[in-house]
Amino acid sequence: MRIGALEAGGTKMVCAVGNENGEILKREVFPTTTPEETMPQMISFFQREEVEALGIGCFGPIDPRKGSKTYGYITSTPKLAWQNYDIVGEFEKALHCPVGFDTDVNAAALGEAFYGITKGLQNSIYITVGTGIGVGVYSEGRLLHGMMHPEAGHILMRRHPDDTYEGWCPFHKDCLEGLAAGPALEKRWGSKGDTLTDREEVWEIESYYIAQACVNYCMILSPERIVLGGGVLKQPSLIPLIRKKFTELLADYIRTEEVHDVEHYIVPASLNDNQGVMGCIRLALLAVEE
Ligand code: ADP
Ligand code: ZN
Repeated sequence: MRIGALEAGGTKMVCAVGNENGEILKREVFPTTTPEETMPQMISFFQREEVEALGIGCFGPIDPRKGSKTYGYITSTPKLAWQNYDIVGEFEKALHCPVGFDTDVNAAALGEAFYGITKGLQNSIYITVGTGIGVGVYSEGRLLHGMMHPEAGHILMRRHPDDTYEGWCPFHKDCLEGLAAGPALEKRWGSKGDTLTDREEVWEIESYYIAQACVNYCMILSPERIVLGGGVLKQPSLIPLIRKKFTELLADYIRTEEVHDVEHYIVPASLNDNQGVMGCIRLALLAVEE
């Protein structure tokens, strides 16, 4: 089967064709400008490739609730041209095939859960720390949505005692994203994350926030494994520090085998940055099954 995958991001649209095994056969990238310009480029790619189903992992917020009036829409995004845009409807009209739809980070969580490091587990989460922070939740063998989808990048934090940076989230200032996404590093320290490798204090504060978030997600969602992805996690010292602080903050309150084996509990993403696209392939297959 020829399966279309679209990782829809705020700056670029990654379009791909794959098969049931999650293998990516072809890929093309288009800049995200306006729907008038970008949609026809993507549609002609998928038409040319004769895809029989499409899965979309989309920047948000989105409406992923089947039966809702605005199901399949990108809703209140700061990317104004795409606000209240019926992306699923437009692809269905053009391609006449089943279309699966979820958030970009839920797609990545699904990619890891079906093809990657959380394969076989019924409960896992995927956290991306990049330009923003997002969390995909795979719970009891399916992606968690609730009333829309989790927005666990915006949880409120206990501050690091040495951190005086006010935070940049336009809604909450010092939520997790406001304190720990890539732009927070840049604003707090005056240069981009990848130039700060030697500054111990940078990663001390950064790991404290990500570890704290992992503790909260562990307590609330009880995942069997936590996967970390995104640009900021490319920093080599970060994951070991997060594991150490996670264990300290948890204070042996949770005593499962999983948590005690922290090297296998908190792990880097495993699919060479293809977890999003591979998750979209799976979303398409789920839409076909329906
Ligand atoms: P996006 O979130 O836009 O999809 P990424 O996941 O690649 O993109 O994240 C981009 C962010 O990651 C930027 O803020 C960038 O400065 C930061 N970043 C990239 N590489 C590193 C690194 N090695 N160490 C720390 N931060 C990094
Ligand atoms: Zn926020």
